[in-house]
Amino acid sequence: MNAQQSYKLSNRLYHMDNSVIQVGDKTVGGQELAVIAGPSSVESEDQILELAKKVKECGAGFLRGGAFKPGTSPLELLKLAREETGLPIVTEITSADMLGRFAEDVDIIQVGARNMKNFKLLKELGRIRKPILLKRGLSATIDELLMSAEYIMSEGNSSVILCERGIRTFETYTRNTLDISAVLALKKLSHLPVIVDPSHAAGLWWMVEPLAKAAIAVGADGIMIEIHNDPVSARINGQQSIKPERLMALMEDVAKMKCFSRIGGD
Ligand code: PEP
Ligand code: MN
Repeated sequence: MNAQQSYKLSNRLYHMDNSVIQVGDKTVGGQELAVIAGPSSVESEDQILELAKKVKECGAGFLRGGAFKPGTSPLELLKLAREETGLPIVTEITSADMLGRFAEDVDIIQVGARNMKNFKLLKELGRIRKPILLKRGLSATIDELLMSAEYIMSEGNSSVILCERGIRTFETYTRNTLDISAVLALKKLSHLPVIVDPSHAAGLWWMVEPLAKAAIAVGADGIMIEIHNDPVSARINGQQSIKPERLMALMEDVAKMKCFSRIGGD
């Protein structure tokens, strides 16, 4: 099938202008660059509050955190961090039975790479009115990512943010291969905002800043960055997490970048 016709709702052919997704007083897909930062996983109250304050100080707009740890309530801790900082929270949903709580408490609901083709979950997310951050599957094509967005949108939820987070290739030096051209392709094919997660793409902390800049240089609407105060002792993904000081440096560099090549509808 002609890919240009297999999805309609996310297609730029039928919606020329960029979609701008409003999240509280912030936007994704508009003029401002969306910077989502936080730990891979919420580990403790102290950890998330400390990192949330750093994210805020750096000028990033959103707090992320995986809420996978059993036994505690990471979502409650994220909410506390939001209360303290005012930052909207982004966290991953792993099954449809979490939907009730997430729809109420989470500002942007993330669908992980491994769930990109969980069509049942996608359809359920289509029935709520919260922005969905849809990550590209490890082996998913650009068309398949857009088809997954279509599942959400066809149920009525048009607030979908696409995320390139690296794909599986023959290369093993990096955790995945950041498909930088996917940003350009997605922006051309679709009006939806596109962000890049260089942390999961590279899996190596020292590549995160340059890859984030590369993403911005080609016109990404945002970046998602994993940070940790003490990456060596992080529960997971320490090797791909940068320290808050590095995020601060990245934010300063990004503010100086003049090479935005944002693709619009014109
Ligand atoms: C994450 O963002 O924490 C995550 C697990 O990412 P992905 O689904 O891209 O692997
Ligand atoms: Mn992670």
